[in-house]
Amino acid sequence: MAKYVYDFTEGNKDLKDLLGGKGANLAEMTNLGLPVPPGFTITSEACRHYLAEGAVPQGLDEEISGYLAALETTMGKKLGQADDPLLVSVRSGAKFSMPGMMETVLNIGLNDESVHGLAKQAGGNERFAWDSYRRLIQMFGKTVLGIDGEHFENALETLKGTRDDTDLDAAELRGLVETFKGIVRAETGADFPAAPRDQMRLAIKAVFDSWNAPRAVLYRRQERTPADLGTAVNICSMVFGNCGDDSGTGVAFTRDPGSGHQGVYGDYLQNAQGEDVVAGIRNTIPLQDLERLDKNAYDELMATMEKLENHYRDLCDIEFTIERGKLWMLQTRVGKRTAGAAFRIAVQLVDQGLITMDEAVTRVTGDQLGQLMFPRFDAGAERRLITKGMNASPGAAVGKAVFSSERAVELAEAGERVILVRRETNPDDLSGMIAAQGVLTSRGGKTSHAAVVARGMGKTCVCGAEELEVSVAARRFSAPGGVEVAEGDVISIDGTTGEVFLGEVPVVDSAVVEYFEGRDLDDELVTAVDRIMRHADSVRRLRVRANADTPEDAARAVRFGGEGIGLCRTEHMFLGERRQLVEDLVLASDETERQAALDALEPHQKDDFIGIFQAMDGRPVTVRLIDPPLHEFLPDLVELSVKVATGEASAKDRRLLEAVKRLHEQNPMLGLRGVRLGLVIPGLFAMQVRAIAEAAKEVPGARPEIMIPLVAAVQELEAVREEAARILAEAGVEALIGTMIEVPRAALTAGQIAEAAQFFSFGTNDLTQMTWGFSRDDVEASFFSRYLDLGIFGVSPFETLDRDGVGRLVRIAAEEGRRTRPDLKLGICGEHGGDPDSVHFCHEVGLDYVSCSPFRIPVARLEAGRAALQSNDSDTR
Ligand code: PEP
Ligand code: MG
Repeated sequence: MAKYVYDFTEGNKDLKDLLGGKGANLAEMTNLGLPVPPGFTITSEACRHYLAEGAVPQGLDEEISGYLAALETTMGKKLGQADDPLLVSVRSGAKFSMPGMMETVLNIGLNDESVHGLAKQAGGNERFAWDSYRRLIQMFGKTVLGIDGEHFENALETLKGTRDDTDLDAAELRGLVETFKGIVRAETGADFPAAPRDQMRLAIKAVFDSWNAPRAVLYRRQERTPADLGTAVNICSMVFGNCGDDSGTGVAFTRDPGSGHQGVYGDYLQNAQGEDVVAGIRNTIPLQDLERLDKNAYDELMATMEKLENHYRDLCDIEFTIERGKLWMLQTRVGKRTAGAAFRIAVQLVDQGLITMDEAVTRVTGDQLGQLMFPRFDAGAERRLITKGMNASPGAAVGKAVFSSERAVELAEAGERVILVRRETNPDDLSGMIAAQGVLTSRGGKTSHAAVVARGMGKTCVCGAEELEVSVAARRFSAPGGVEVAEGDVISIDGTTGEVFLGEVPVVDSAVVEYFEGRDLDDELVTAVDRIMRHADSVRRLRVRANADTPEDAARAVRFGGEGIGLCRTEHMFLGERRQLVEDLVLASDETERQAALDALEPHQKDDFIGIFQAMDGRPVTVRLIDPPLHEFLPDLVELSVKVATGEASAKDRRLLEAVKRLHEQNPMLGLRGVRLGLVIPGLFAMQVRAIAEAAKEVPGARPEIMIPLVAAVQELEAVREEAARILAEAGVEALIGTMIEVPRAALTAGQIAEAAQFFSFGTNDLTQMTWGFSRDDVEASFFSRYLDLGIFGVSPFETLDRDGVGRLVRIAAEEGRRTRPDLKLGICGEHGGDPDSVHFCHEVGLDYVSCSPFRIPVARLEAGRAALQSNDSDTR
């Protein structure tokens, strides 16, 4: 029979698939002998069954009862027993952390009887018992019974007035429990469920259901987390941080998740339960201050954190509770961190001897490197500082202040840049955070919801800017010195320093970009990036080339580590002043006129190539012959028609109009372009090949490669290849001749095509377009968001290569091509060449190189190194 429940003593950290991150790590900490309150985990498999079938698996209830009975024996108390109750928490915990996105219910087991037993356990502390009970009804009412939380919050606010919640006495809290029970009755038509086992059963289901709550769905989509994993549920015996001033609860990091520096980072809240810290009910104190309040607990916490960091060999974040001086660990996990911290921590851990350089490379990602390449504010620019908060997630963000998620989404959809300003954020603000350039809050520390979520997303965030008076209702905030900012006013926030500026501050290149540009910088982050990049370069098998078609781009590509050009598109070379010459070519009425037009184009082309070969200094340059249909270079049909109709047209205009009409296509993407053009317009490709050859002769060491686009059949390639080979031979220039594989038929007949090609370069933009039948120019804007909502794919196939479909064609073509020609060179030059996941795919299928835009080259180099290490076949082993 399937096993759906694991005691904390049965699991370990490697069982995240089954027990979720929280459950697996609670088990790991239990095994390490750390103080974890006993409990057990219901697997994510049980959740998946529940979500698929609408009912929990058969036998689950009995299995839970068995584990509960064992827990009761360990604890020496029974769940909800009137005179001496065991209370439990019911917490979600998926494989990937989803901070605050799913549900948690604390204090399960309390009712009108057991509340007295709890007071007795706490040495007659009635206040604590009633406080715990009101928390149960409030949380249970909101998350399990679906009652709007505001009902409870308003009742609490009314009772409290200007006091803190800790100022309420037992009698007041008892009254509040009655009020809360009344709210439950009014909102659901039924009494709050008193039977402890019913409370537990309902809470477990509510946690399962919360997997599909809208905010959780949105979060997964944003983080590209699979939608079908489900969540595990942790049942943990309660420990109490709300027993008085010798108790409390906190969150901490083993080192700064913002900078990576070692030290004490965390927040603590006295006399409180876990949810209070994140919800920002009262202001937390820095963790350092705990040393003064309770030295023993503080010392034990520090020792525990060190043990955890050495055990996990990484930054950990933790949640803990102190119950009357006794420390309890409620959670740990390898913590989220900013991109900069990821690089710094990786090399720090190497220097501490905890990990190897190989591991350091796998500890950072191309996405993080990409974030470090974002611009930052220009320190020399004039700027008006209005306040400073905490530097919660780095970056430089500029936008109009907005005060609600809805407004953020609305303006962002209209193309505006916005900064979401809130007192504090909660999980319902996720859509606004995604839409905004950055997030600014006036409350909450580095562990607040806003900070954690923003860091996870790589979104700029300044939090806890306490000098700001934020009024969400009035849609404005005020800052010291009489500064008033209303919705729509532009502000700039610096997540690296925590500074907030009025108006727009100009941005400049990041230090990491300057480093890639070759400037010498004495900077800790740059040093970390440099060490990791060098190691990634030493282990990667994939080469990295650039998509570049100007000498400037080519030069930048070299500075960024490009080892060649994988795609030099030649079409831009037919624009601008040269349009005139293309028009002459199209209008040529005989062989002589056509040749004259081509002869006029050739020297320009030659100059283009000389510049690029020089910039590439002996590195290979794949020049792709012209691809788009010729009418794209002619004047617009409507404009010409108007000119002709109004009598303003010259004789040439009239002829051009004829040509435009003749060349007009319903589906130009599937029309006369690429190799087809080369076959239909004699001399066009020959002119380009001659220009390449002549340019190569003038640049010592030039290594051109000639690439034919849009080939679908070997016969097409043979027809143009022969002429190209002859021209190269006549010029005495050696160059490989190959083709793009970007039409499905080419992939399917790659074995034949390889007879005539010395290399393949996968044009995955067109290959994706033609495999899915998606117009690459239209569909992303028109209906992809619906497809993403429906889960048809988790990410656009134009962004990340679709392994199952397009990837299968790439695999077939690579295998069959190499069967025909074992030394066939293979590369990719579609946009996917700079996408991390796609780079891993290219490594797996054995391509020789990826080619991407110059700015993506560092990302591709890093990911190529990671791919080699993760698949264990790097160059060094
Ligand atoms: C491709 O189709 O992937 C490609 C690189 O060519 P282009 O984007 O120029 O069509
Ligand atoms: Mg293409």
